[in-house]
Amino acid sequence: MLRRERGATSQATMETIERKTLLYKSGLGFWCVNHAVGCSHGCKYPCYAYMMAKTYGRAKDYADWCEPKLVANAAELLDAELKRKRKKPESINLCLTTDPFMTGYPEVASMSLRLIAVANCHGVACSTLTKGLYPMELADRSRFPSDNIHGISLVSLDEGFRKRWEPGASPYAERILALKALHDAGRATYAHVEPYPTPNLIAQDLAAILEEVGFVDRIYFGGWNYNALATGFPDRRGFYECQAEIVGLFCAERGIELR
Ligand code: SF4
Repeated sequence: MLRRERGATSQATMETIERKTLLYKSGLGFWCVNHAVGCSHGCKYPCYAYMMAKTYGRAKDYADWCEPKLVANAAELLDAELKRKRKKPESINLCLTTDPFMTGYPEVASMSLRLIAVANCHGVACSTLTKGLYPMELADRSRFPSDNIHGISLVSLDEGFRKRWEPGASPYAERILALKALHDAGRATYAHVEPYPTPNLIAQDLAAILEEVGFVDRIYFGGWNYNALATGFPDRRGFYECQAEIVGLFCAERGIELR
């Protein structure tokens, strides 16, 4: 379901660009593809990818960032790059600097499915992360035979919070349901509970959030950086130690891997 109207300057057809390369190893040590420049979710944590894009001239401003451009030759590039690799990556991440299933841009989701199919065809699994909605096609083992893993970012259940900090992203309840559907269909899933807000940003119960994603195989938990409101919270360290303990106990009780 598409919730977000494209911006007033958007064309009926999404703007595209061509690239010479796609697959790269990130500074974090894993292989990635980013087949769009920009992201309709427009997170205001702020988004590190947006800050970098603005610094290096890939996005003029916030409005420009929120009207992404698709890398039109992404599938051909990935296929050619994987064919050339004698030692193939174990796994490829979608994505580090954009969202593979972003709201309002089915062209991006469609390309994501093509890329996962290409990678799987080369025997390479994919790990995806979104604040959008997963399509059920991902459960199709005939098209996506590898052991892919699919995750969502989830730091609250409060829609007011989402509208303030992730204004273009999918509603939390729909996001969780789409992930659960893939889990129920036999796919591995995870939740990325990061950047978790400090109580001066929202007072909430972490246990209730974890309960909503208690079906996942893996949970990542992390604090909120790059924002003076969060970093200035008194006893930030004590707060995050306490929350990390809650996550640790939850994962241990449920047999969920904690990263
Ligand atoms: S979903 Fe990710 S890439 Fe998109 S704006 Fe939010 S943080 Fe940035």
